[in-house]
Amino acid sequence: MTRTFRFAPSPNGDLHLGHAYSALLNGDLAREAGGRLLIRMEDIDETRCRREFEASILEDLAWLGLAWEQPVRRQSEHFDAYAAALDRLKAMDLVYPSFLSRAEIRAATADPDWPRDPDGAPLYPGFDRDLSAKAASAKIASGMPYAWRLNMDAALARTGPLAFRETGRGPDGQTGAVAADPARWGDVVIARKEIPTSYHLSVVVDDALQGISDVVRGEDLFHATSVHRLLQMLLGLPEPRYRHHGLIRDAAGRKLSKSEGATGLRQLREAGMTPADIRARVGLQPTPST
Ligand code: GLU
Repeated sequence: MTRTFRFAPSPNGDLHLGHAYSALLNGDLAREAGGRLLIRMEDIDETRCRREFEASILEDLAWLGLAWEQPVRRQSEHFDAYAAALDRLKAMDLVYPSFLSRAEIRAATADPDWPRDPDGAPLYPGFDRDLSAKAASAKIASGMPYAWRLNMDAALARTGPLAFRETGRGPDGQTGAVAADPARWGDVVIARKEIPTSYHLSVVVDDALQGISDVVRGEDLFHATSVHRLLQMLLGLPEPRYRHHGLIRDAAGRKLSKSEGATGLRQLREAGMTPADIRARVGLQPTPST
């Protein structure tokens, strides 16, 4: 079976060396496997994503020497697909509308000992989980904004224990069949107040719709894979193979950010670096053609 890889940037800034590494690694693995490489623009947050960034990202990827299949999938053009997946979760009674404001959540979780998710954010305290359908409908009808959250306990009761296949390594060296632990994320947001989907929902829907066999991405998303595996199971979607890679860090050992000029691909290119220099800088072997 042809293997299909993807690079899925969010067009909310320019690419840095970390993105270049991830994109090139996907390209190398696709080429070695005689497989396909797809690009997906993760632009559901239309307040932060811009077409100009999208264009400059594609230009940088082409400059790096990557070739990908057309068309590029833009998540903002597929809100209907995410709505259909959300409807399935609603029909299974596994999501609930949560009306709390950010400030209310902050106040309810202010205790320094409050449990936190793998990204360090306090777990959602579960408010509104047990609201009756009638009370929830009344709040919705009154125009109160709300997010859809997954009822994690109910979801896990439905699937039982889950695992995912890791062919790279997690941040603590996890590899092989890794036990998924989505409960560490609590009642995650499945559709945001201002956006009718979320990163977690869109990514699993798209990986399935695009026939992705191999998800190759930074280890900062390793723990999120537990949520993805759970959603795949609930929605009856196929399970890709995962390969999380180490992150390119700055001289001080920090994760790179899009605003950091020194490691921006544009800046490095303008300073005279070639695509071959970039490959060497991120620790990839030269390609046969460079
Ligand atoms: N769009 C995500 C990012 O920019 C990557 C998502 C993924 O590879 O699953 O970090």
